[in-house]
Amino acid sequence: MLLRSITKHVKDQNWFAVALDFFIVVVGILIAFQITNWNERRATAVDEREFLNRLHGDILELQERRTEYDKSRPEILEILNVITEFLYGERDDLSATEALQVQFLPELADFEGLVESSICNHFEWTDALTVPPATLPTATEIVYAGRVNDIASDKVKSALQTFLQQSERAEEYIGALRKNGIRLTITFPDLFEIRSSKWDYDLDGETFSHYRCDYEAMRSNPAFLNAVEVSVRNYSNYTFKGVFPASEKLAELHQAVDEELGLTHNSEAE
Ligand SMILES: [Zn+2]
Repeated sequence: MLLRSITKHVKDQNWFAVALDFFIVVVGILIAFQITNWNERRATAVDEREFLNRLHGDILELQERRTEYDKSRPEILEILNVITEFLYGERDDLSATEALQVQFLPELADFEGLVESSICNHFEWTDALTVPPATLPTATEIVYAGRVNDIASDKVKSALQTFLQQSERAEEYIGALRKNGIRLTITFPDLFEIRSSKWDYDLDGETFSHYRCDYEAMRSNPAFLNAVEVSVRNYSNYTFKGVFPASEKLAELHQAVDEELGLTHNSEAE
């Protein structure tokens, strides 16, 4: 129709009408293009919000799973430090560890001898350097699809990349620390007595062996004291350089996602 009208206007040499026809065609194309653009942008915005909502759910779940690590590692380290001070003669007794242990696990106090046993059991922890969970399924999906750059919010994108790098680094770092690990109870068998015990208790179905430490013999064994010092430093590095940094980056990512979604809740209150 329009083509026929243009041809007619050209024949008539009506240049104003030709220009007008062209103008109508160009504007029509531009409008169609703009509408497509708007629709695409709307679809991307919807995807982004859905992605952020799913990511937020993953973050909450992961933070919950990491809480045990963030909470228990410094507690274990605190008790190990007190034991070390006692072994080096800087403390007269282990009463401070008992207070700490009961504070962390009050149920222990209900069973005769269990607090003492669980304090001795702390030597086992120095070699138990497990990697905390760090997987965010939504993020893994987007990384494998090579679509990290499609995340519209620069803040979320960079916080996510920082967390992923940090947790990868933590895994390598913890792996390296594990190579230095010394299983004290196995390396120094004369200093420990470990046997399965018929404790008359039930702590959420957990079972504990009965541990007895020969502290006097430990204090006069230089090889053991050195091994303890190395192991406790290892555990300290594990806690502060292996576990904490990724948890901090995860909290920053949570903050960035909250801001983007307009959430003002306090993650600790959940
Ligand atoms: Zn949140």
